[in-house]
Amino acid sequence: MKTLLRKLATCSSSSLILITLLLLVTGTFIYYAQKTLGDIQASLPIDLSKQEQDVALLVSEFSDLIRLVQSAKSADKPEAIKRLADQISLVDRHLEKMREEYRFNDLIGVSAIHAVLNPAMFDISKWSREGVYSFTPDSPQTLGLIELRADEANRRATQLLSHSAGKALEILSRQAWRMKRFRQVTTTTLGILGIMSLALVISALRQQRTVFALRESEEQIRFRANFDQITGLPNRPNFIEHLGEAVARSCRTRNLIALLFIDLDRFKTINDTLGHDIGDQLIREVGQRISQCVRSTDMVARLGGDEFTVLLQDMSDAMHASLIAESIIEQLSRPYRIESHEVYSSASIGITICPIDSEDASTLLKNADMAMYQAKDMGRDTFRFFTSTMTEQARHFLEIDKDLRQAMAREELFIEYQPIYDLQEGRIAGIEALMRWRHPEKGVIMPDVFIPVAEETGLIVPMGYWILEQASRQAVSWQRLGAAMPYLAVNVSTRQIMSGFCREKIGPLLEKSGFPANRLVLEITESLLMGNDNRVNEALGGFREMGVELAVDDFGTGYSALNYLRNFPVSLLKIDRSFIRDMVEDHGDARLVETIVAMAGGLDLGVVAEGVETPDQHYALQKRGCSMVQGFFYSNPVDAGAVDLLLSEGNGIEDRIPADTSTRAS
Ligand code: C2E
Ligand code: MG
Ligand code: MG
Repeated sequence: MKTLLRKLATCSSSSLILITLLLLVTGTFIYYAQKTLGDIQASLPIDLSKQEQDVALLVSEFSDLIRLVQSAKSADKPEAIKRLADQISLVDRHLEKMREEYRFNDLIGVSAIHAVLNPAMFDISKWSREGVYSFTPDSPQTLGLIELRADEANRRATQLLSHSAGKALEILSRQAWRMKRFRQVTTTTLGILGIMSLALVISALRQQRTVFALRESEEQIRFRANFDQITGLPNRPNFIEHLGEAVARSCRTRNLIALLFIDLDRFKTINDTLGHDIGDQLIREVGQRISQCVRSTDMVARLGGDEFTVLLQDMSDAMHASLIAESIIEQLSRPYRIESHEVYSSASIGITICPIDSEDASTLLKNADMAMYQAKDMGRDTFRFFTSTMTEQARHFLEIDKDLRQAMAREELFIEYQPIYDLQEGRIAGIEALMRWRHPEKGVIMPDVFIPVAEETGLIVPMGYWILEQASRQAVSWQRLGAAMPYLAVNVSTRQIMSGFCREKIGPLLEKSGFPANRLVLEITESLLMGNDNRVNEALGGFREMGVELAVDDFGTGYSALNYLRNFPVSLLKIDRSFIRDMVEDHGDARLVETIVAMAGGLDLGVVAEGVETPDQHYALQKRGCSMVQGFFYSNPVDAGAVDLLLSEGNGIEDRIPADTSTRAS
């Protein structure tokens, strides 16, 4: 029904006129049909058969009367006369009843019955009671006259019977004629209606076809204007429009976008030797392979010939573009099977970053083009950033990524542990696990170098499980050394949480190592808490439910809004080391630290000062009531064996403070 209405809605005005006409004709027809049926019903001889029956009964009653007169002439008189009188009054009553019933429905003429039969009955009953001309009622003369009258009446009644049958026949044939006419009219009207409906449907379908054809050609025109015929990808004007919008957005939000300019190497040779048809098929396949390397939110376009562009939006790091460029280069250098040919190709890519390189769309396009030519100059099958330092950075980034992928399997990752001291009690309160990488050629690499790469490539996820498993197993062995077991702090990055680092995963891991969940502290960043992501809420809630505590690492460097402290189950703040570094010289920083300590106290949160390096910082923190401290002043991050030693020595802070400084206080 809905589709029909929708289809009708697409019809033009001529179809609407047709529909109105059809409705009018249908309405008239229904009116006519109802009227005709009413007429037929009104003229139906409802009582006709009953009247015939009554007259037939009269005829038979008159016959009986005649028979009774004949028997009265010969038989036992008194008895016969009595039966005759009964029959006469029966006929009389019957006639009277008919007169009453048919008063208003005089179809065959009840008055005629009366006119004919009533006088006869009057005579008969009068004679039968009183006799005639001095003859007694039972005299043969009277009986003879009764018989004569009854004979006559019977004949008239028989005549009436045949008259009523004739009348009925006449009415019925008139009815039949009307019915026939009615059927004719109905058939003709329905035929006309059918033809009109058919015409309407045909015209609607034809118009719809025209509308569809128009729409299709409109879509085709729009597609041709915005998309490339061979690959189906957005074309140059479409891309330029999107680039302009994306650049404006990036300048506003300061989110990074990358523009990749891709040019196939030696495509002209393929075209010239194998023909344009194969060339087109190659271009199509190239478009598909590039599209598979990016997210659905990124844009891939064909500018023309063998030139493609990719627009990567909302990147967390410019190096993300180098990862994509690498995967495109790898994908495009795989052999192509086209018809019976095995075709080899490669691509050179130029990359520019907005808003770093420029805040103007056409300049960015020129930048990317220039960078692409540099890539060609460097021997093709490679990529270049517009800013040469970025290319260098990317080379380094990809090298780390490549080596890091093998590092876990080759067991090159290891952990150092840094104690966190309780300033009041003067002993180790916790131990933070910090990841290290012993590179076979470059030596020990610090997390600041490889963690950002691992976060960008996603390797941080398996690495995160690895450090938790290793460190918790190690911490179980320390449990045996000290009476009060220090808590274990492990850093968790945003990418880990977003990739499903949750209660269900770490629960079994802790169970396996035997480390109690309530002695584990996960260090997270302010930016994670500010993200307002449901997955984060669920993950953090899950950790708290299992007893794991949460610390905000590098507190004070992220955001000024602090309402997340109310919304998330955080129990510890780690004041960033930048505040501690300057707090002795800078009065402002000292006040800030003081305020954070007071705020933590007010919110019932623990507080750790990070990066304590000097005795002055130590005393300044002690003076301001900071509860916990961590830094080179007390201990560098050390290996597990050194922690063993610290714990078995009694882990007192006084051992860590040089004697000549103990009198200093600021
Ligand atoms: P963080 O969590 O804030 O860790 C403290 C960093 O400060 C460590 O650097 C530590 O060596 C350093 N540090 C400690 N005391 C002092 C001091 O007195 N002065 C100075 N200047 N620095 C001090 P590290 O080990 O290089 O780690 C850097 C960052 O890497 C960590 O910062 C943490 O955010 C990240 N990280 C380390 N391990 C992991 C890990 O397993 N997973 C994740 N996601 N991140 C990690
Ligand atoms: Mg930390
Ligand atoms: Mg920190």
